[in-house]
Amino acid sequence: MAAPQSYDDRDGWIWYDGTLVPWREANVHVLTHAMHYASAVFEGQKAYGGVVFKLQEHSQRLHTSANILGFEIPWSVDEIGAACNEVLKANNLVDGYMRPIAWRGSEKMGVSPTGNTIHLAIAAWDWGKYFDPEKAAKGLRLDIAPWRRPAPYTAPVHSKAAGLYMIASLSKQHAEGRGYDDALMMDWRGQVAEATGANAFFVRDGSIHTPPPECFLDGITRRTVMDLARKRGIEVVERAIWPEELESFEQMFLTGSAAEVTFVQSAGPWNFEVGDLSRQLAKDYDDLVYGRIPNS
Ligand code: PMP
Repeated sequence: MAAPQSYDDRDGWIWYDGTLVPWREANVHVLTHAMHYASAVFEGQKAYGGVVFKLQEHSQRLHTSANILGFEIPWSVDEIGAACNEVLKANNLVDGYMRPIAWRGSEKMGVSPTGNTIHLAIAAWDWGKYFDPEKAAKGLRLDIAPWRRPAPYTAPVHSKAAGLYMIASLSKQHAEGRGYDDALMMDWRGQVAEATGANAFFVRDGSIHTPPPECFLDGITRRTVMDLARKRGIEVVERAIWPEELESFEQMFLTGSAAEVTFVQSAGPWNFEVGDLSRQLAKDYDDLVYGRIPNS
């Protein structure tokens, strides 16, 4: 079997600081503040039928994430949106995943971030489904992550900041090493938080329950799915969820721009069924992103 094509060795165009550059030339120097101190923020968004779903929200969140890390992106939300559309077109993509990323450059090598130029790049590619569709159809098997989401006073938890993915990728590696698909992370208090790259929902007696986003991203998909549920008259309960309670839930699913709505069959010792309510919301989300039902 051929090795998967490396992300730095592909055909195509990447938007880099205002211009489209050939894919292989979109590089940074090893002495870059972002690489040493994780001073980078990014977005993950998807285009469906040529339209980037919730583009304005994603571009706005990129700005907000940068502000939380103490910098301003020198392109406006609208300019970032226009650049995203340019990238899709340049790469002849109709359906695809997009990764805008903003980072501090190479002017300074100390911890102090002040004085570094801010860069912005946007790449897009055909990524298919984030989780293996066969596994997702039966529901993912989640490990319980060895790492906990940090308290809001110990990390900039509301920024989609590269540094916060350290514990996510360690937890994912740990889970995969033990034969699981992903991991459920608790927070610093021991409450249920989220998966390594998606928010978590639970179903019981026709209602959905999800923890409040106190130490993790209030996902754009999370809010979208909550709206879809309310439109169907499904009660949405946002509240602290403790692991002991997981036994009482019938269904579980994850939400994220890449994950979309993904069913879960187990999280650690707790088992769930792939049920009608989860299936309905997954279908509603699919209908919404492809424009079969109106965007609110
Ligand atoms: N939490 C984490 C850690 C994520 O990486 C993501 C994906 N961006 C989410 C939640 C869901 O966010 P969204 O629905 O905005 O993609």
